[in-house]
Amino acid sequence: MAEKTRSIWVFGDYRNYFQNRVTLQLLSRATDLAQKIDAEVCAVVFGHEVDEWVGEYIAHGAKKVFVTDHPMLKSYSTDLYVALMERLALTYDPEIILVGATSFGREFAPRVSKRLKTGLTADCVGLDMNEEGLLVQTAPAFGGNVLARIVTPGRRPQMATVRPGTFQEIPHNYEAAGEIVRVPLPANLPRDRVRLISSERQPPREQKIEDAAVVVCGGRGMGSRKKFRNLYDLARILGGEVGATRPVVYSKWAEEEALVGQADKHIQPKVLLSFGISGAIQHTAGITNADFIIAVNKNPNAAMMKMADVAIVADANQVCTAFIRELKRRIRS
Ligand SMILES: Cc1cc2nc3c(=O)[nH]c(=O)nc-3n(C[C@H](O)[C@H](O)[C@H](O)COP(=O)(O)OP(=O)(O)OC[C@H]3O[C@@H](n4cnc5c(N)ncnc54)[C@H](O)[C@@H]3O)c2cc1C
Repeated sequence: MAEKTRSIWVFGDYRNYFQNRVTLQLLSRATDLAQKIDAEVCAVVFGHEVDEWVGEYIAHGAKKVFVTDHPMLKSYSTDLYVALMERLALTYDPEIILVGATSFGREFAPRVSKRLKTGLTADCVGLDMNEEGLLVQTAPAFGGNVLARIVTPGRRPQMATVRPGTFQEIPHNYEAAGEIVRVPLPANLPRDRVRLISSERQPPREQKIEDAAVVVCGGRGMGSRKKFRNLYDLARILGGEVGATRPVVYSKWAEEEALVGQADKHIQPKVLLSFGISGAIQHTAGITNADFIIAVNKNPNAAMMKMADVAIVADANQVCTAFIRELKRRIRS
């Protein structure tokens, strides 16, 4: 008997498409993983009038897209979406299901895993395959103090939610071809226990650090909370966001949302400016996708300096102040 093709599914969370790129990031990672186990990358899309997203997912690497398109699915319903996913998975038996760790994914994925009687690793910050072809799911545990590497040897599918920004999306290719499997809405779905009365789109949020093209990141070498505030001025002038190391956040020089590292934000800026940061592995794990790094440190041998494209041996605060002065001068002239 011919062996069945294995598949890796990525759940299509297309709400806020332009801000929330996690589905595209997962399709990219799924494509790498699929090569290792000779599997097919599939996307799953539920909703109404969703062909635009089907095309997007094919352009970003999906070889097959399962689509259920029906007016009842126009807005997200936990009852209906979970029931649909359960049936689809029981019918097609995917090897792996990946879901973005958005507020939506965090509600949806655990319910699906319970229905399928399988495990789920939540909030992963890494995915790989081991020699046995099992998905190695890396996730912070015990309050972020350890990174656990988790496998699901006995149950299928292997399921994970993954933090936005962990992987980089691949550029779209609108020439790419993919199979579209249209799955009709089953007649005997459960009744939706929640009735949507109205909905309103939130005003666009400020830029998130995970999506920022420029990130100005500061560490303990900035010296004080007052000096650290200079980084916010620099980031504002550059149209970027501020990131921070753990000691900085613990000292309350920066908000917790600014924390960059293995267990927290993974950033992928075009330019990262790093001030007074030693470059501990727990921090650099969050910046591996930065395109170009400029680091300032008093110590030329700091790990951060070795990792940088441009390393400036100097006082971090003095360089930051000089950058601000020069940029303001150029803006004025
Ligand atoms: C389980 C665990 C998880 C962790 N997770 C994270 C995480 O997610 N993110 C994270 O950031 N950290 C994390 N950490 C902490 C991490 O190990 C480091 O301690 C931390 O990243 C160091 O921060 P830092 O570079 O700001 O400080 P330091 O290591 O103290 O480095 C300060 C740097 O500033 C330089 N410096 C000093 N004065 C100046 C000056 N005037 N001008 C220029 N340079 C100067 C020094 O040479 C030094 O290189 C974690 C640790 C553990 C144990």
